[in-house]
Amino acid sequence: MKIDILTIFPDFFRGPLDYGIVRRAREAGLAEIAVHDLRAFAHDKHRTVDDRPFGGGEGMVLKPEPIFECIETLNVVPREQRAATKQTVILLSAQGKCFDQAEAREIAQLDHLVLICGRYEGVDERVGEFLADRELSIGDYVLSGGELGAAVIVDTTTRLIPGALGNEASTRQESFTARTESFPTDGPDSTCSSGGLLDYPHYTRPAEFRGMSVPEALLSGNHDEIRRWRRRTALEKTLRNRPDLVNWVALNEEDKKLLAQITGKEI
Ligand code: SAH
Repeated sequence: MKIDILTIFPDFFRGPLDYGIVRRAREAGLAEIAVHDLRAFAHDKHRTVDDRPFGGGEGMVLKPEPIFECIETLNVVPREQRAATKQTVILLSAQGKCFDQAEAREIAQLDHLVLICGRYEGVDERVGEFLADRELSIGDYVLSGGELGAAVIVDTTTRLIPGALGNEASTRQESFTARTESFPTDGPDSTCSSGGLLDYPHYTRPAEFRGMSVPEALLSGNHDEIRRWRRRTALEKTLRNRPDLVNWVALNEEDKKLLAQITGKEI
């Protein structure tokens, strides 16, 4: 996948995209990431990329011209042809739709991803209205710039590009992975797809550490018992930390029994 990031702080990306899976995906040519300095597309001698808001008010707004001009150098097709050509242009914005794992999976299938990072009070609205296909937020809070959001989207999607993780099956039991998604079924039968729930707890050696021991079920060697323990703890953790997710999950009969045990009532 080709990834272009538009920013007024290109140095911001030295580091966040240079480690672990993203680094390996870049080295393997699975993700080709380029960072573009919007100031290079400003034409006055001060390389101005922002201006005061029409109508008055606080702060500065990123101007549209450098952003449009930068994108014109990136072989991006007009908006109506982007889906067919597997391209997408995303504006990072607190007012956007909330980015999630399902969207990451969709973006990971594309060939070309362009991310526009705002700053100050935001970006001239014509960028969102006429240039970007979608506005995405990474959560219900206000960042000082879109760069962290862009790094989050690049990290999340890059690890889902086929070949990036080395073991595709390992994404199937992760948090937020919907049961309806299809994966190769070569994982051990003690793992269980998260089915939209949070991931189950993980432990490693030593089995006993400062008086804290690993749950017995995981040491039993009984795959079915391990699978049930994982499903139960995933349900417990989801109920505790993200009860909103439980409503979205397709629960099977075993899940309903486990939920009834956990909550002490029939589901
Ligand atoms: N005035 C805006 C906030 C601007 S913050 C508002 O109240 O909605 C400056 C830039 O940071 C934005 O243009 C956007 O690119 C980025 N940003 C801020 N919060 C974000 C979030 N939750 N997700 C993604 N990008 C965000």
